[in-house]
Amino acid sequence: MALELYIHPCVQKPPHRLHPPPVDKPLRIRIQGPLESIQKLLPNVSWHNVVPFPQLGALALARLTHQALYGQGEHNMADGGLRVRDEYLAWVMEGRRPLDYIDYYGVTFDHLVPTDDLDPEVLAINIIEVDKDGGVYADGGKYANEVLSFSVNPTGYTGKKVLAVPRCCQHKKGTLDRRLINSMVAERDSEIRGRSQRPSAKRAREDTVL
Ligand SMILES: [Zn+2]
Repeated sequence: MALELYIHPCVQKPPHRLHPPPVDKPLRIRIQGPLESIQKLLPNVSWHNVVPFPQLGALALARLTHQALYGQGEHNMADGGLRVRDEYLAWVMEGRRPLDYIDYYGVTFDHLVPTDDLDPEVLAINIIEVDKDGGVYADGGKYANEVLSFSVNPTGYTGKKVLAVPRCCQHKKGTLDRRLINSMVAERDSEIRGRSQRPSAKRAREDTVL
């Protein structure tokens, strides 16, 4: 059974202006997290055969996030309402060598961003695994309570919902998020244009994890 993607309400007073984002504001959104958490949201999507951009689950994760942020409103699937722009794969490493599967994933998508806007505002959201057991990222909320500006009780989440938190409610504020994410989208665009010439290189985990 799929668990609910739960975006925690803003704990800032007053709330951060992009948490939640106004529905009519063009915005680039990046959501990322451990694959084991994403699989709880999308249990029917396979991530194990990594394919060229985008993965099978990219649009599904983007849609789920879009719905959690904006609800089921008219903007949801309207023309230009949601466009997948980039993804982030963290390959499982053996020493310094990437293996052929991932354990962490992120997707970047646009909400109402005009195609000629190369530097839209960015909302970065982290999926935080808080389960008590099962999987390398499941530590009963220890990590969550280190990185978040509020405390988390894992019993509210385990088997029920998956926690996702924008930057404004984390200790790490991500001041470079906008620049990094927009430059990765630009890089992806140029990679897509040149895909016939060269295979895409695996990006190392340290490169772009936010
Ligand atoms: Zn917030």
